[in-house]
Amino acid sequence: VEIDRLLRPNILTLKPYSSARDEFKGQADVWLDANENPYGAPPDVSLPNANGLRLHRYPDPYQRALKQRVSELKGLPVDHIFLGNGSDECIDLLFRAFCEPGKDHVLTMPPTYGMYTVSANINDVEIREVPLTPDYTLDDNGLQKAFAEMPKLWFVCNPNNPTGKAFDRAALLATVAECPGLVVVDEAYADFSSSESLVKLVPYYPNLVVLQTFSKAWGMAAVRLGMAFADPEIIDVLTRIKPPYNIGTLQQTYALEALQKTDAVADRVKKIIEERARLADALATLPTVEHVVPSDANFLLVKIQDAGRLYRELAQQGIVVRNWSEKPHTLGCLRITIGTPAENDRLLQALKVLGA
Ligand SMILES: *Cc1c(COP(=O)(O)O)cnc(C)c1O
Repeated sequence: VEIDRLLRPNILTLKPYSSARDEFKGQADVWLDANENPYGAPPDVSLPNANGLRLHRYPDPYQRALKQRVSELKGLPVDHIFLGNGSDECIDLLFRAFCEPGKDHVLTMPPTYGMYTVSANINDVEIREVPLTPDYTLDDNGLQKAFAEMPKLWFVCNPNNPTGKAFDRAALLATVAECPGLVVVDEAYADFSSSESLVKLVPYYPNLVVLQTFSKAWGMAAVRLGMAFADPEIIDVLTRIKPPYNIGTLQQTYALEALQKTDAVADRVKKIIEERARLADALATLPTVEHVVPSDANFLLVKIQDAGRLYRELAQQGIVVRNWSEKPHTLGCLRITIGTPAENDRLLQALKVLGA
C-alpha cells in the first residue's frame, strides 16, 4: 500500500516538534539548550527495589498517592489536579477533548513554545496567532478581535518561552475573564519567577487551566511528569480520555519520594536565579550584545550580532545553546539556559574568544 495515500492529510504534511536534542546531535559537554536544571534531580532520592514495586501489576491509573502529595504542595483539592506524561500530554489531551478537527481553532502568541502548534497540527486544529508586542507583552487589541471569533483554547506561556518574560498579572487576569474559551496558562517556569503562580486562582476562574511540570525547577525532565490544574469538570474529562496507565509505577514512586525534597529544590532555584542575574549582567557588557531580555525563567533571550555564526562556533566548542535567530519574532536571538557557575563562565569565555 502507499502509506501516503492512506494517511490523514494533516499528518502527511506535519512538521514535527523539533526538540533541542533534534537540533544538536554532536559531542558537547555544556548543555544550555533545553532549560533543564543543571544541578540534577533532587538529591538522595532512591527507588525501593523492583520487587517491592510490584512491576508485574499495572500502575495506579489515578496516581492517588502522588496527587495527594501534589495537592498538599499546591494547596488545591485533589479533584482539581490531573497528572500527565509530561505537560506535553496535557496539551494534547486538551486539544482532543475540546477541539473539533477541521472546524475549531485555537490562539497562540508567538514567539512561544512550539508544542502548541505541533499539537494543533496533529489534531487537525487551526492555529490563529496574535503575536506579542515588540517588547513581548500582550497585544490587547489583537486579543479582543481574536476572542470575537471564539477560539476554543488560548495558550499563554507565563513566563514565556523563549522570551523569559512574565506577563503583568492584573492585565493577564482581566484578559482571562474576557476569553470565551479555555485559557491554558503554561507555568513551566513559574518557580523561577517573582510573579506569583495562578494555581491558587483556579477555583475562581472556571475557564482557567494551569500547566506545570517536573521537568525544569524540579530537575526531573527524564521522569516525564506534568500537572494540569483546573475546575473538576475539566479534570474529569481529561481523566476519562487519557491512556489509562499514562504514568508508570517507577515514575509515580520516584516523584513521590522526590516531592519530599522541597528545601533542596528551593535552594537550587535560588542559585539559578542568582546566576541568571550574574550572567545577564556579564552578557550585557559584551560589545556585540544588543539586548538581554529581563528574565523570569531559567534562561535568557539574548539579541547579539552574528547570532547564527556564534551558535555554530559555540557548538564546535561543546557548548550548546538554542538558536532562535532565524525565527521571525526573535531575529538575531539566542536562548541560553542558566547553567552552573562553571558552565556559565565557560560560555562567557568562549563568547569573548569568538569576538562577541
Ligand atoms: C519545557 C516546557 C514544558 C515541559 O514539558 P514537559 O512535557 O512537562 O517536559 C512545557 N511548557 C513549556 C513552555 C516548556 O518550555
